[in-house]
Amino acid sequence: MQANHDTHIVQIALPVPLRRAFDYRVPAGEKPPQLGQLVLANFANRDMAGVVVGFGPSSELEATKIKNYQQTLPSKFKLPAELLTLCQWLSDYYLHPLGEVLQSSIPPYLRQGKALPENNYWQLSREGKGLNHDALKRSPKQQQILRYLLEHGYFDSEQRKQLDFSASTIKALEQKGLLERTDTEPEQKQAQARVSELLKQKALELNGEQQAAVDAVRFHHFACYLLHGATGSGKTEVYLQLSERALRAGQQVLVLVPEIGLSPQTVQRFRQRFNVPLIELHSGVSEAQRARNWLQALDGSAQIIIGTRLAALSPLKHAGLIIVDEEHDLAYKQQDGLRYSARDLSIYRANQLKIPIVLGSATPSLESLKQALDKKYHHLVLKQRASGSAAPLLQCLDLRDQNMHAGLSQAALGAIRSCLERGEQALVFQNRRGYAAVQLCHHCGWMSECPRCSASMTLHSRPARLHCHHCDWRSRVYQSCPNCQQSQLESRGVGTEQLEQALQQSFPETPVLRVDRDSSRSKKSFADKLAQVQSGQACVLVGTQMLAKGHHFPNLKLVIVTDADQGFFSSDFRGMERMGQLLMQVAGRAGREGSRGLVLLQSHRPDHPLLQLLCQRGYYSFARHLLSERLHNELPPYSFSAQFRAESKRAENASALLETLRSAYSRLYPPSQEHSLLGPMPSSMEKIQDRYRFQLSVKANKRSTLKSIVKALVDELEQSALSKRVRWSLDIDPLETA
Ligand code: ADP
Ligand code: ZN
Ligand code: ZN
Repeated sequence: MQANHDTHIVQIALPVPLRRAFDYRVPAGEKPPQLGQLVLANFANRDMAGVVVGFGPSSELEATKIKNYQQTLPSKFKLPAELLTLCQWLSDYYLHPLGEVLQSSIPPYLRQGKALPENNYWQLSREGKGLNHDALKRSPKQQQILRYLLEHGYFDSEQRKQLDFSASTIKALEQKGLLERTDTEPEQKQAQARVSELLKQKALELNGEQQAAVDAVRFHHFACYLLHGATGSGKTEVYLQLSERALRAGQQVLVLVPEIGLSPQTVQRFRQRFNVPLIELHSGVSEAQRARNWLQALDGSAQIIIGTRLAALSPLKHAGLIIVDEEHDLAYKQQDGLRYSARDLSIYRANQLKIPIVLGSATPSLESLKQALDKKYHHLVLKQRASGSAAPLLQCLDLRDQNMHAGLSQAALGAIRSCLERGEQALVFQNRRGYAAVQLCHHCGWMSECPRCSASMTLHSRPARLHCHHCDWRSRVYQSCPNCQQSQLESRGVGTEQLEQALQQSFPETPVLRVDRDSSRSKKSFADKLAQVQSGQACVLVGTQMLAKGHHFPNLKLVIVTDADQGFFSSDFRGMERMGQLLMQVAGRAGREGSRGLVLLQSHRPDHPLLQLLCQRGYYSFARHLLSERLHNELPPYSFSAQFRAESKRAENASALLETLRSAYSRLYPPSQEHSLLGPMPSSMEKIQDRYRFQLSVKANKRSTLKSIVKALVDELEQSALSKRVRWSLDIDPLETA
């Protein structure tokens, strides 16, 4: 190989499922590209955009056989070295092809080199700002825009579409001189004009615990802080004041939240507090806007970046602080393709950047708690609620031999009644939407099963249907049994719709509000319901997980959990941890202001030691107990695991593919205490959408051991002819092992 060829040969990572980069030659007349630039290359007869990840030949391929790539893509950016390194780490850690990792790190608009559509902003002119809400009566459409702007300040081209403001109405307002159009974001203009005024709103005076937490964090160094504070203890205020420090030093702050729809308050509180450009990165932002936002994070003009999992890969020009709110949340782990954990990635990233990272939660994951107990993370604890109100009281309600009414015991109904009589609000938590889990024939035992999945079809009443929540299959509701034609059908497993109806019958005078994915398809109806609850009027809320997180309802005093036993039935060793987290999250909605809240857990095993521990001593004691069990059983976080999954329309193919891994493992590794293999075996949902699913887990006492075994097995898989016909995936540090 001749040395002078090197600068003309570049290594390109292409979005293909192969775990390597490819050598191409710089086309004649083009300048050699830079690291991180996008180029267009032909691969297997397709043109695709790839990222330059190195120079010089990476393989022994004869230099003359190396093809030219087409061209360097004209784009406004190149991937910064830091992101390139981050993607390389992801590719290495999760054993995922680098090209695909890079692909998912760049917003679609930018990686295809598309030009961004122009964005416009509209705000009221000086004259417009002088009008009040009731002006422009004669044109309701104009008045609607006026009112929106008086409240929100401005809207842009995309919001305009969403809000359905017509071009002609806007034009009319422009002609009247009431509306102005610009091409830069108005708030940003303001912020640039007044950089000296960082705060829009005064910071709260911290209590002692909060102050200690803020003071503990050292900037310009890597350290991981676990901010462990009960719901309502003021973690968000700590995030805000830490962010203020970073912003004052001219640095950017990256804030991750699990799901944007469930934490709009967090975004709002950052917006209300700071006078600096803030951008959002999540799936609710349109692709064009995501690309714009991403570029602002890259050039440093955006100073606060808030987003979901995908924002963990946002570029940062002057990174100063990373915050991961609700760090225990499952949503941080991607469940397909590149199965990365945004939390774990962020910790690695903070380390590379030499900046602090704060993981916040009322119910930390056992992984993070262990690190804190081992003194690898700083454990910052907030014990008191910031509002001064006491933590809610948790009690079990014994369900054994009780008369039940739509899943509620008499004691639970009685508690709701007295709560309403005091003019307070109650929440009934039921983590199953629909009317009932299944339709059932009491005569012959027929059940409404999904024809495509090993799961039952949920019965819904409005609109009436049977619906598979795993594959979306729908069918009509049966009036009589399709098997024996004899009898009327019954239902089992109460869902939120049934609860709503039953509660409305029991309390005909009181509003009963149901919040779940079915009732909240429209953002507006969700917002309307939340507003109604916030107003404080006595009511009963019925809902799923959607209600468990984040919300602050001042007059909510009672929480009923209809079924606290789910963790006991879980086949996953993380079942109990999840149950504890969920119960504490839901419980955290009760009594956030004023008098103490009450949380009633309906259970058939009210004396279970773990449930008792949770009720009496709280999450920390509960979690430490679970950790000691994990240690005893050598389960994560005291061991490391990976899971191979295979699925196919033919069950024997899926299991055969994993069987080849088992034999490779036995061939390559003599039996040892250090590692083990479990499977292949059917997944807990054996069939989804007519595909059979199998799994195989690898466990090791050291991460390095796990990695070398998994690598060897992946090589084996790629050699196997079956792997072309069977869909397989690899999950490192899986969250669900059942
Ligand atoms: P968390 O994020 O831990 O759930 P929040 O930050 O939302 O808690 O705080 C709960 C409530 O307490 C909020 O209404 C917040 O404004 C208020 N709060 C937080 N810190 C203080 C403080 N130092 N003084 C007064 N009120 C506070
Ligand atoms: Zn029947
Ligand atoms: Zn199905």
